[in-house]
Amino acid sequence: MPVRLPFRPRRDAYPPDLWTKCPGCSEMLFNKQLDKALRVCPGCGHHFRISARARIEQLVDPGSFVERDSDLTPVDALGFVDLKAYTDRLLSAQLATGLRDAAVWGLARMGGRQISLCAMDFFFIGGSMGSVVGEKVTRAGEAALAERVPLLIVSSSGGARMQEGTFSLMQLVKTMSIVERVREAGIPYISLMTDPTTGGVFASFAVVGDVNLAEPNALIRFAGDRVASGTIGEELPEPPRAEFLMSHGFVDRIVPREQMRDEIISLLGFLMPAPQNGQGEPLASPTFSRRSIISAITGALAPDSNGENATQGEGATNG
Ligand SMILES: [Zn+2]
Repeated sequence: MPVRLPFRPRRDAYPPDLWTKCPGCSEMLFNKQLDKALRVCPGCGHHFRISARARIEQLVDPGSFVERDSDLTPVDALGFVDLKAYTDRLLSAQLATGLRDAAVWGLARMGGRQISLCAMDFFFIGGSMGSVVGEKVTRAGEAALAERVPLLIVSSSGGARMQEGTFSLMQLVKTMSIVERVREAGIPYISLMTDPTTGGVFASFAVVGDVNLAEPNALIRFAGDRVASGTIGEELPEPPRAEFLMSHGFVDRIVPREQMRDEIISLLGFLMPAPQNGQGEPLASPTFSRRSIISAITGALAPDSNGENATQGEGATNG
C-alpha cells in the first residue's frame, strides 16, 4: 500500500505563467523581465515569438494604432474535418488569442508618419493564411493605395491554411495583386519577416517588399524538410534561417527586435517626405528625401541643371 504523505509533491516544473525556458540557452527567464526586454532573451538573444498585438505595440507610436475590420470572421466553407473539425479549431484559437483570425490590420503612425500596417499572429492556428488573412493583407494594401501611405506587413506564418483548401491558395494571387498595385503606384512596401515565415506566405507577399527585413535567426523558407528533401532527393543541411537568406539575397537587413522600430522609421525617412506638424503628411508624389537634399545641393551649385536633377529624382523613385 503506498504511503500517503501529508504534503503535496514538490512541483518540479516552473509555473508557465511566471517563467519561460529559453530554447536558445535553456535559461529560465522571468516573464515580466522578458516582456520588458521585448521578449528577447538577455542571455543569448533568442527572439521569442510574440502576438500580433504585442508586435504592433512595439512598433508604432504609442496609442496611434486604429484597428480596422476586427470583426472579420472566417467561415468553414468546406466543412473541413482533420483530427478536429475546423470550426472547433477556430473557436479554440479565438478563445486563446482573443482574435477572430490570424492577422490584425489598421492605420498607425511611426515616427509621426502615417502607415498602413498588417501583422500576423502565429498563435492563431500557426498564423496560417486563409481567406480572412488574405483579405486583411489586401485591405491594408488598398488603404496604403487610397491614403498614399507606406505599407508594412509583419509576417509570422506557417503558410496557407489547409483547412480552407483552395480558398487559401487563392490568397497568394490576391495578396500579390495588391502588392503589385502598391508597387506600381510608387508607394513603399516594407516586409518584416519574423520566426517563422514559411509556405504560402513566403511564396507570396513576404519576400517581395521594397525592403525585406528579418529578425535574427528567424526560420524563413517555402517547404518543410520532408517535402524539400523529397523533391530534390537529398537531405537538407540546417533549416534556412534569416542569416542564410540574407547571404543569398532574399533578405536585405537583419534587425534585432529592440532596434526594429527605429530601423523602420529611418527607412521610412529615406522613402518618404518628412511629416509636417507631426501629422504624417500623405505621400503627394513618391520621392526619396535623401535624393532631394542632393538635388538641392547640386541645384545650388549649378542652377541651370534643375531639369536634369528633377529627372534623376523621378528615376530614383522607380529604382
Ligand atoms: Zn537564451
